[in-house]
Amino acid sequence: MIGTLEGVVKNPPVPVAACNPSMWTRQYPVFLWSTLALMSSDSVSFKCHHCNHCCTDVICLPSPWDVRRIMRMTGQDPFDFLEFLTPEEIEDVDDDDPSWLVLNGQKYMMALKRDETTGCYFLNQQTRLCSIYEARPLLCRLYPFKVEEDADGKYLGFTLHEDVGCPKHADGVVPTKPLHDLYVQDSINGEDYVELVDFFNAQEYPGKEVEDFVVMFTGGFQKLRENLEEQAKEKAAEARNAEQKAGIAEPA
Ligand code: SF4
Ligand code: SF4
Repeated sequence: MIGTLEGVVKNPPVPVAACNPSMWTRQYPVFLWSTLALMSSDSVSFKCHHCNHCCTDVICLPSPWDVRRIMRMTGQDPFDFLEFLTPEEIEDVDDDDPSWLVLNGQKYMMALKRDETTGCYFLNQQTRLCSIYEARPLLCRLYPFKVEEDADGKYLGFTLHEDVGCPKHADGVVPTKPLHDLYVQDSINGEDYVELVDFFNAQEYPGKEVEDFVVMFTGGFQKLRENLEEQAKEKAAEARNAEQKAGIAEPA
């Protein structure tokens, strides 16, 4: 199976290379990567041999759209399969990566849960195949491919990332058109992801938790906002009662 990019994290930290879609397009621009020989523009020589490296040793950083798709197609609670990792748990992600969620001075990155021994939360332990193959994150679909662009950003084709752990078997042919479509979608998602993160980071309210980010993009933000407004009203009422008791305020 084509799994995640090496964008991943381990315990102890492992290079994250380019797992996060926003990192794929922004944080790890192509010039940071050494490449294998450039293939023809319409195909890449590659065949997955199902070694499971990408689903076992690599932590996947899904986009909010990946999370929503997984929820829709599996019916699962996002908190069953997501976790938030700190910089100490991820290597090679820039400090100023725009995908960091920041809460009380601590940074967090949204990731698929992963067990050090058994791998990705969605890796079927019997079949050793992805249990959500049709819903898997974009980055899993792109692994281990790397887009090639010229200095003006013009699309040239795809190669294989050299510095990821995939054995990169070259005994098959993979058409690049579907990869390019994924790449374009990934780029759009990456920009929207950063906007969501910026919005989340700018919010300040009592009891804010990093999990609220998921609530925000899974449609629960209105509910969250209502809860917060309710909390604020209750606080105001409590303060007013306290003032009344102290003889500072008139009864409402
Ligand atoms: S979601 Fe599926 S393809 Fe992606 S890392 Fe997990 S098991 Fe592998
Ligand atoms: S690391 Fe490469 S060969 Fe191994 S399962 Fe992933 S894509 Fe296939």
